[in-house]
Amino acid sequence: MTLNTKKYDLLLKGGTVLDPAQGIHDRRDIAFKDGLVAAIEPRLDPASAATAVDVTGKLVTPGFVDLHGHFYHGATGSAVHADEACLSAGVTTGVDAGSAGFMNFEAMRDYVFPAHRTRLLSFLHIGAGGLVLNRILGGDLHDLRTIDVDRAADTIKKNSSMVFGVKVRMHVDAVAHWNAPTAMRLARAAADQSRSRLMVHVSGTPIPLPQVLEFMGKGDIATHAFNGNLENILDNNGKLRPEVLAARKRGVIMDVGHAGIHCDVEVVKSALKQGFAPDTISTDIHIGPPDRIIYKLNDLVSKFHALGLTLKDAVAASTVRPAQVLGLQDSLGSLAPGMSGDAAVFDLREGRFVWHDMAGHNVDGKVRLDTYLTVRAGSVAWREGQLTRMGEC
Ligand SMILES: [Zn+2]
Repeated sequence: MTLNTKKYDLLLKGGTVLDPAQGIHDRRDIAFKDGLVAAIEPRLDPASAATAVDVTGKLVTPGFVDLHGHFYHGATGSAVHADEACLSAGVTTGVDAGSAGFMNFEAMRDYVFPAHRTRLLSFLHIGAGGLVLNRILGGDLHDLRTIDVDRAADTIKKNSSMVFGVKVRMHVDAVAHWNAPTAMRLARAAADQSRSRLMVHVSGTPIPLPQVLEFMGKGDIATHAFNGNLENILDNNGKLRPEVLAARKRGVIMDVGHAGIHCDVEVVKSALKQGFAPDTISTDIHIGPPDRIIYKLNDLVSKFHALGLTLKDAVAASTVRPAQVLGLQDSLGSLAPGMSGDAAVFDLREGRFVWHDMAGHNVDGKVRLDTYLTVRAGSVAWREGQLTRMGEC
């Protein structure tokens, strides 16, 4: 190993930086040192870095933050290998949405997450075993004895740098309608007791959506918010329901959680027409049956751009916004000096691209973000189809 005497470890040279948090959309060079962003300037000397990568003509963004994925790989039958699914999509922070409960959280924390370069955070499932039986039972709250508010809250409090709240799945297959209000009340109690937040699956709810939203306040996350199932955000006339508008007004975060049947293009289009864009774009990435549509985050940013979001807004919804939702905006979601050295570089492919949903609605777009390189903690972690070993480029 040679001693690095250079001022910077890594330099990305000549790219077009899109960093909504700093209001930058312009040509910039970016330098990394000791795992952090060290400088962002119109010109930096490539000789000042141990490694310089020419990214002329490419789009450089802060590393994406995927607010809803499943990364307890090997434990639930549906969780993905985080590095393969995230780094290949420009995602440097993945948030596991309730794969583990208090009973099996420690193995995720101690054995699975540390085996990855992707920064992995989580929401704790309100049920003791998380999603381990999801594939068998189609849900996880068939028996409310699996809920223990004290133990869930204690797990979150003891792991507050990694666990950001409580996940509860309000889905007809997951919880009976007569148990749903109790499950919501107990999840709310665990979030309050741990001074964290709720993330609620709001697709295919066993009780009316307004009743679910009643339990949610500022900073809580409604994931799968743009689904087209019964009890979605639109009323029978296609207008946003007043309870949904009221929820947003009091600060409930409207998150995409795209996979499977959980995001309907027609609902998104109607919501956008009414001025109701998603706060955060997330994947709900998992291993599903072959016919299930599951996109990585670079494709979802491209898809929402095709649906009408500006590229800046689509990138903000996958960088600075999820960072803010987690209260981590001082270290994630921007390329300002001192922030985590996480960045993504994309080729902006032009052509005709078609994205699908599972309701049979397509979106045509002209631009696709194609991941070229992903930087994690100041070194190249993925480049053109390959995971790279620590320090390699
Ligand atoms: Zn999920």
